[in-house]
Amino acid sequence: MVSVVLPAYNEADNIEPAIKEISECLSGCTDEYELVFISDGSTDGTYEKIKAAAEADPHVKGAEFSRNFGKEAAIFAGLSLAFGDAVIVMDCDLQHPVSALPEMIEKWKAGAEVVEGIKNSRGRENIFHKMSAGLFYGIMTKLIKIDMSASSDFKLLDRKAVDALLELPESNTFFRALSFWIGFKSEKVYYDVEERRSGKSKWSTKGLVDYAIKNATSFSTLPLKVITMMGWFFLLFALALGVQTLINYIWFEAETGFTTVILLILIVGGFLMLSLGIIGHYIARIYEEVKGRPRFIIRDVAGDLTGNVKGQWK
Ligand code: UDP
Ligand code: MG
Repeated sequence: MVSVVLPAYNEADNIEPAIKEISECLSGCTDEYELVFISDGSTDGTYEKIKAAAEADPHVKGAEFSRNFGKEAAIFAGLSLAFGDAVIVMDCDLQHPVSALPEMIEKWKAGAEVVEGIKNSRGRENIFHKMSAGLFYGIMTKLIKIDMSASSDFKLLDRKAVDALLELPESNTFFRALSFWIGFKSEKVYYDVEERRSGKSKWSTKGLVDYAIKNATSFSTLPLKVITMMGWFFLLFALALGVQTLINYIWFEAETGFTTVILLILIVGGFLMLSLGIIGHYIARIYEEVKGRPRFIIRDVAGDLTGNVKGQWK
């Protein structure tokens, strides 16, 4: 059985086309399948559409969050609700092409445990978006030493990989990178990003920046190490300057150097505040994790999801 998990936030007009196209494709390449829609606190009747579809078609299932918890939470809710021996995660605006599904399933049947969807092109985006995505993935690639520039949330995971992901205790997840982190035998499928079927992208620039910082710090402690390095650098610098100042004081006249003092105060002060900010950010993340709140709260479910209680209300 193959499950398809589709996070949906205000995608009312995309639900029906998604069901139609994905069902057509899957009924051709697997015996059994299910579509698990996770409505992420939608306010435009997305969940009503899902519910109606679930009543008409037993392959369609769904859940609705009590509020908007974000795409990551929706993906993990879908993973924990899905029954499949393989679970495919894809966007329900159909930007991830349905035509790539047969190849993914083929690779899985041939033994791959994780099939990564890799973008041939990033589709149509404005230049700022493209540049910041380039910067973010450049940094991430350095930090976690996996090339993620063309990766996406479009993936097929074998049941083993799904269970491994669901075992992870952290509440701040980064699906795209975690699927590399868990390992397993992986294959790639290349696809072209399609135009969004209807509606608008849910990402604002601020949203993307927050997402980038959150994920970079959840995956790496390198920023903390950089602070320590900076500390050493400044200490050496201060030593050299201290020696120079003493020499000046003892053998020469010690009047000059006012500019140096002002500059040093500004620079060191700036670095200190920046460093405190970075440390503070990590503490905030620890605080969030320590609270141990659930990743999402489900308000209602549609279709037959009853067998899969594991993690359902967590
Ligand atoms: N999405 C979600 N919760 C959110 C934002 C987005 O579940 O808070 C879903 C959205 O419905 C879509 C997918 O995540 O199926 C990708 O979102 P979007 O198309 O807005 O992002 P883009 O394709 O522009 O990166
Ligand atoms: Mg999209």
